[in-house]
Amino acid sequence: MQVTEIYKSLQGESTHAGLPCVFVRLTGCNLRCAWCDSEYTFQGGRKMTAEEIAAEVKRLSPNGGLVEITGGEPMLQERELLPLMRQLLEAEYQLLLETSGERPLERVPEAVIKIVDVKCPNSGEADTFHLENLETLTAHDEVKFVISTRTDYEFARAFTRQHNLSERVHAVLFSPAFRKDATGARDSSHCLLDPQELAEWMLADDVPARLGLQLHKFIWDPAVKGV
Ligand code: SF4
Repeated sequence: MQVTEIYKSLQGESTHAGLPCVFVRLTGCNLRCAWCDSEYTFQGGRKMTAEEIAAEVKRLSPNGGLVEITGGEPMLQERELLPLMRQLLEAEYQLLLETSGERPLERVPEAVIKIVDVKCPNSGEADTFHLENLETLTAHDEVKFVISTRTDYEFARAFTRQHNLSERVHAVLFSPAFRKDATGARDSSHCLLDPQELAEWMLADDVPARLGLQLHKFIWDPAVKGV
């Protein structure tokens, strides 16, 4: 598999935010989101076998715990990723898979918690979510919308209601997009949409979703990678 980095940090997103987590960041993505902060994953990386990755996860977190497979788009390496996920589950790690849902998810083991990032219009990658993947979502999965404008918010609100997401999954997350070149201040001034504005829209509409902030960008300099 092609791997950009493996590191241990605190989980910054989802309902697992704040927990220690090993991140396995795979190389390559077939989308080009306007605000992507992971462009360094598009190329490069190094080849590793599933066994080498599992060994590195064990070294970083010998007593089990949370592991997130992310990217890039990890499902582009599905053929090798599926056995790796089974191996990590057998070793009793709690496994998160961060994906855009553009690739089919039906072969992902049920025990894996899918964090599906449905792209909003202003990402530049609208309509890439594979709608059939809704059927693969279970009560422990989460759906995330990264929102940069009112148009994005209205899309996320409509999608959430139309597909009854709050009944299907553990959590629906509305997250303000972050400026991709953010550096320095560890505060919401780098958000493309003011979290207060998003919060007020959500409250006004009584949307069955939770506001999500990228915790790691409030702890470390937003420009720092591998945290
Ligand atoms: S799917 Fe993720 S990694 Fe790919 S371009 Fe969008 S934000 Fe970046």
